[in-house]
Order: sequence, then structure tokens, then C-alpha cells
Amino acid sequence: MPIQPLPSHLINQIAAGEVVERPAAVVKELVENAIDAGSTRIRIEAEQGGMRRIAVSDNGCGIPRAELPLALTRHATSKIASLEDLEAVLTLGFRGEALPSIAAVAQTTLASRTARDEHGWKVQLSPGEGVPEPRPQPMPVGTQVCVERLFHQVPARKRFLRSERTEFSHLDTAARRLALGAPQVEFSLSHNGRELWHARAAGDQHQAEERVAALLGEEFIAEALRLDYTGQGLSLRGWVARPAFSRAQGDLQHVFINGRYIRDRLVIAALKAAYSDVLHYSRQPAYLLYLTLDPRELDVNVHPTKQEVRFRDGSRIFDTLRRCVCQAVAEPLPRVDGEGGVARTDGSSLSGPPAGAAEGIQGAGLSATAVRLQPASARQLYAEHAPADPLRLADAVTEQLPMAQEGVERAPPLGFALAQIHGVYILSQTEKGAVLVDMHAAHERIVLEELKQRLHGQPTPSQPLLLPQSLSLQPAEADRAEEAFELMQQLGLELRRTAETQVEIRAVPVLLSDYDHVALTRDIISDLGQAEALDLHRLEFALDRALGNMACKSGSIKAGRQLDRLEMNALLRQIERTPRSGQCNHGRPTWIELSMDSLDRLFLRGR
Ligand code: ADP
Ligand code: MG
Repeated sequence: MPIQPLPSHLINQIAAGEVVERPAAVVKELVENAIDAGSTRIRIEAEQGGMRRIAVSDNGCGIPRAELPLALTRHATSKIASLEDLEAVLTLGFRGEALPSIAAVAQTTLASRTARDEHGWKVQLSPGEGVPEPRPQPMPVGTQVCVERLFHQVPARKRFLRSERTEFSHLDTAARRLALGAPQVEFSLSHNGRELWHARAAGDQHQAEERVAALLGEEFIAEALRLDYTGQGLSLRGWVARPAFSRAQGDLQHVFINGRYIRDRLVIAALKAAYSDVLHYSRQPAYLLYLTLDPRELDVNVHPTKQEVRFRDGSRIFDTLRRCVCQAVAEPLPRVDGEGGVARTDGSSLSGPPAGAAEGIQGAGLSATAVRLQPASARQLYAEHAPADPLRLADAVTEQLPMAQEGVERAPPLGFALAQIHGVYILSQTEKGAVLVDMHAAHERIVLEELKQRLHGQPTPSQPLLLPQSLSLQPAEADRAEEAFELMQQLGLELRRTAETQVEIRAVPVLLSDYDHVALTRDIISDLGQAEALDLHRLEFALDRALGNMACKSGSIKAGRQLDRLEMNALLRQIERTPRSGQCNHGRPTWIELSMDSLDRLFLRGR
């Protein structure tokens, strides 16, 4: 065949293959146009999963009569006019191909009215037909697009559509996602004539959370921690779920960049890294995040559906995302003196331990002398079991002194220890019920956080090894390690390449000199092998992971050890103060709460 230009109808159908693969994609394109038009109210209606009919109406700026045919013409757009515009694009659309693509595969009616018009104008066209003359149409200011019988004339594509239920479920997901991306806009969705949900515009934080609850579920917002960060030339806001709210699938991961829903590898990896320390590897974190940055830092013109982006400085984005989210999920327990604390003037209130349960912490009965003795005995007890790590178990005890002296106690969040169960769990009574703590898991986290804090706080002093130790590596691994030598030195780890496959450890961070530094170094190097770009944050991250393994192997209270109440309470107080203490270093929970309500339910009380 000779080379010949494709007829425009066919070009549009080919383009449709990229942007409209199912009803949900039609909704996405139409709603994005409505958002770009500055609408404050958008109504979505679907019939038969959207296969029979999709109608989207908005109260945006509308399209003037003279431009209606252009709106349906390929590569015609009001959103960009030059390359500079494209480089700084803030609208969701800019390619000018959605409406013509949709009109190429479905019967399409476009009606619109601007604020200047006395009435609206409407065009109606079927696949393969040209755009007819607009006809007058009574309507409010805004735009109404109706798409009927999708793929009716393209049987090859129609065969790929699934059941009404499946198609509608995709459509619903797409609509909720669009509503999440534009919190300032009121949305509603109906199916087969019935309204399924309605999301009001979010004016303040409370409304914003209500809206998220309506769109993503009450549980998400109940388990979510708020995040609000500005710096590094960007802003990051939203919610990240506590690690305990993890899921088997990554279905509750929403990231909007400049208002656009993005499913980007780098972003997902950064978030995964942020949780890696607190989440079991088989679980997926849940989050809803809004990242705003200078549009010139971002190339959105990578993919027709624009779900992928390219960052000018991916490494900075990766690190900022990881660090912000990591910090947010590290939130320790609510402070003891925060809301929910109960004033206790005697040992008898529900929130406190029963008489005699918590030696040494019993209100005014505690004498200063007694307290001064306790750190020593605690230290001694501790030294027997954790000689390698000078943990501050004693400090935790001393800290209870002011609380006692004030004469008014507040029930700490993890309550007071009652007993140890089989040397593995601590049972504690709290204000709301009871808590079970996995001693070993909790202590592991405390040790890790302490190591991290000491190591990252200051320039790290290192201790030369009397006999440098050799490490055999794959040549590529050794190359990779060599790139990071200088950075490692900043962390007190001094390495030297001695051969193609040999690296020598010459000095280690003082804090870690008692640990197995060959294993530690090996862990760090293997972790570096997976990182895209090397920098100090990445290295610290690798070090943290290696420390996690260390903390687990050494220095942590092993299950099976007997603790007295004093030690148990000291451990509870330490957990309360430690970041990320809800999970051990492998992401397993360290404690669980059994509320009175749930206990009552177990015993069918009050039924
Ligand atoms: P793009 O969104 O990439 O510009 P579309 O094919 O989706 O391309 O839309 C073409 C043009 O039609 C838009 O640039 C806009 O000017 C106009 N348009 C489409 N939908 C609406 C709407 N709901 N309100 C106002 N204008 C619209
Ligand atoms: Mg568009």
C-alpha cells in the first residue's frame, strides 16, 4: 500500500484507544474538563455501569457557541497556547483529544452556556459524523455532556467491556478519586437513577475529614495521621494511616500532584520506604497525599492518561516524601497530660492500678528516697540482661518522680502493669480497659530508636579497628560501596577498597563497636545496591534498616525473661515516649488494646 494520511475519524478512534478504554475513563475525562472550567458543583450520572449512558453536568465557565465545534476537534484546546504554557501546565487537560476521542466511539451531546449567553447551545453527534450546527438549548450556566452507547459502533472494543457491576465499580472508583483530587468542588454520583454518594465542598479541616471519610471510609480517617509540610520548594499535605491500618493490597494509596492523581513508581517507592521500618513487608500502607510543587519541576506530558510523571529532581522528591511520611508515622503515643488523661488523687479510680499493683508509682505514698533507690536496682537488673547496651531503663523510672510528687496523677496511655504472662506478654490496666504488650517486640523498637537517635543526631565519632576486617563482595557491589565511601565516613564507618572483590572495614561508629560490624556493613551495602541515587539520606536509611536487624539480634529483652512490676512499668513508659513504638522493627504490633467495650462484648455483657 502507498503511504496515505489517515482519515480524521480513524485518527480519533485510534486516539480513543489511548484515553477511553472503558466508561470510567470517560468519566475521568469529562470531570477533569469540568474541574478545569472552574466548577464548584459537578454531577455525575451513569446508567448500566456507564455503558448505556454517562452524563456529567457542571456549573463552570461554559463554552461559547462559536467554540463548540472546536471543542470536538482534535488537538484544539483552550488550556495551552505555547511550549512555555505546556511546561508550566496546571490544568488537568491540555492535549485537546478527549472530547473528539469520546465522540469517535459514542453518541455524544455537548450543551454549554457561558455567563454572557442568554441560553445555552447544543450539538449532538454520532461516531463518524461531522459536527452539526449548534442549536439553542435552555439551561443554566455551565456545561452538560452526555455520552451514550459507548463502543456501540466499535464491536472489537465493546467486547472488552465487563459486566455492569464491574464497569460501575471502576466508574465509582474513578469518580471518588476525582472528588478526592478537588476537595473544593461539590460532587455527586448516581447510578440507574439513584444517588449513591454526595460529597460537599470542604471548607475547613473538619469538613475535609468528613469528606475523606465519605469517599474512603470512616476507618481510614479514624486511623489516619495528619501531615502538613512546607519546605524544599514544595508542600505535602494529607493523611497517612497508622501502620496498624495496613492492607493486603495497595488499593488505598492516593497521591495527587498539583491536583492530578498520579500512580508513579518513584512516589510509590518513597512511600513504601517511609513505612518499611514499621510495616511488615507483605502489607501495604494506606495514604491520601497532596503534593504541590512548581509545575516546571514536573513533566506531565509523558503518558496519554497522565498518570505517570517525570520529576526534574526525583531524588529530592523521593527523600522529602520519605522523610515527611516516616516522621508522621513515627508519632509516639498521645502525651500523658493530653486529652483523656484522668486526674487521680487516690489509688482507687478506674484508670489507676488496683492497690499495690504498681510499686513505687502509687500517688503521694511514694517517697523520694524510694525512687532514688529504684534506678540503681533497675540498672542492676537491666545490666544482667542487656550488658551490651546501656539503655536508659533507669531514666524512665526517675521520670515518674515528678508525677508522683505533684500529688495528681494522670493515667498514662499504656496504664500500669499488672502481670507478666508466660514471660512473653505484659498485661496492663489502662483507663479504657487493658493492654497486652509483646515485651521483646517493644524493646526491640526502643533499642533501635535510641541507636538511630544517637547516631543521626551528631557527627558520629568512629573507632578505628585494631585489625581491619575484610569483606568479600561481588565486583558490582564493591563498586557501589566505593561510591558511598565518603558518605559512610560521615556516619563513622570507614571503608577501603583493597581488591576487585574486597573491601576492608577500618573504623566503625563508636556506638556500634560492640556489634557485629561485618554483618552490619554487609547489610548496608546490599541495601545500597537497590537505591537509585546515593546520598546521605539514602545511606542513613540503609543504616537504619541494618540497625533494625542488629537491635533484634542483640541488646533486646528476650522473651522468657522475668520482669518485676517496676521494670514492666518502666518499659511501658519508654514505649510511650518512643517514636514508632506501636510496631517492632519488622512491622509487627508491639501492643494491642482491649477496651472495656470489647471485653464486655467478648463476655456478652449488657446484652
Ligand atoms: P483538553 O481538556 O485537553 O483541552 P478536551 O478534548 O477534553 O481537551 O476539551 C477540549 C476543550 O473543550 C477544552 O480545552 C475546553 O476549552 C473545552 N471544554 C471541554 N469540557 C468543558 C467544560 N466542562 N467546561 C468548559 N469547557 C470545556
Ligand atoms: Mg480534557
